[in-house]
Amino acid sequence: GVLVVGSITADVTAFSRRLPRRGETVLGDDFTLVLGGKGANQAVAAAHSGAPTWMAACVGQDPFRDIVLSGLETHGVTLTEVRTVEGRTGVAHIRVDASGENDIVITPLANASLDEAMVTESIERVRDRVGVLLLQLEIRTEVACHAARQGAAAGLTVVLDPAPAQELPDDVWPYLDIVTPNESEATVLTGVQVTDLESAERAAAWFLERGVSHAIITLGAGGALSVTKERTRHFPAYAVTPVDTTAAGDAFTGFFGGALAAGLDVDTAIQYGMAAGALATTKAGASPSLPGRDEVEPLVNT
Ligand code: ADP
Repeated sequence: GVLVVGSITADVTAFSRRLPRRGETVLGDDFTLVLGGKGANQAVAAAHSGAPTWMAACVGQDPFRDIVLSGLETHGVTLTEVRTVEGRTGVAHIRVDASGENDIVITPLANASLDEAMVTESIERVRDRVGVLLLQLEIRTEVACHAARQGAAAGLTVVLDPAPAQELPDDVWPYLDIVTPNESEATVLTGVQVTDLESAERAAAWFLERGVSHAIITLGAGGALSVTKERTRHFPAYAVTPVDTTAAGDAFTGFFGGALAAGLDVDTAIQYGMAAGALATTKAGASPSLPGRDEVEPLVNT
């Protein structure tokens, strides 16, 4: 199985023909309220892949709590490690115009309450049933780093999607088995402007030099570059017609982690992740666009 330690938000999205200018009010065309947060999205994707999936996270005491928890539950994520804390559930406030351009304010709220002790406790409780730990950076950095150390100590395969990109302490990198940055995250973290396979390989080398065993740089329609000390391999993307690329990375990481946990070899797991990422771009929205295993498997086998 898979344990995700990460964020849960209620994604509150207003759609309007154009975005309001500063101080302006515009009329919208539509509005949605759905489960989101990188942690939750990756947990849903891992559960869709067929892996028993737990999420260690915090929600608040408000109406959004019920919405996000029922979303996770509907998608098959086990909620025993989700804690309800004082205060409010995290929110992503999103505005989208007719061309798909958006702006987003993420307010962590309850996500900031996830602490080291909770993470230690959750890893202890589920360690016998999971093989893979998925981490992102929408929770407190120290807590994500603590999870990496504890997960490694428990013998889990530790996967970090370093998003949103931010500096991490030097001593955490050796605890990470796999990192899965996209081009822009790899650029921010390594200082190497990632624009093609050659620069992606140089960015990957930065992670390996710091002690990460395996860097997988995802390149959108350019597929993914997998780099270990022993080998560099480029995986071309599955051909799809994208309508909205939101959550492609979360689909990738969730299905990749689920496939690893199921015992598939790492190259096959990358193909599952890539097929899921490609399919996620063919539907609008974040968590509602995450594909099912019944869609991913046929694409992997093409
Ligand atoms: P993020 O959403 O984090 O920016 P990417 O855009 O790199 O992540 O997408 C993750 C993976 O999803 C890619 O490695 C690729 O396999 C797949 N993918 C993303 N966009 C496309 C696309 N336009 N066509 C085909 N596959 C895609």
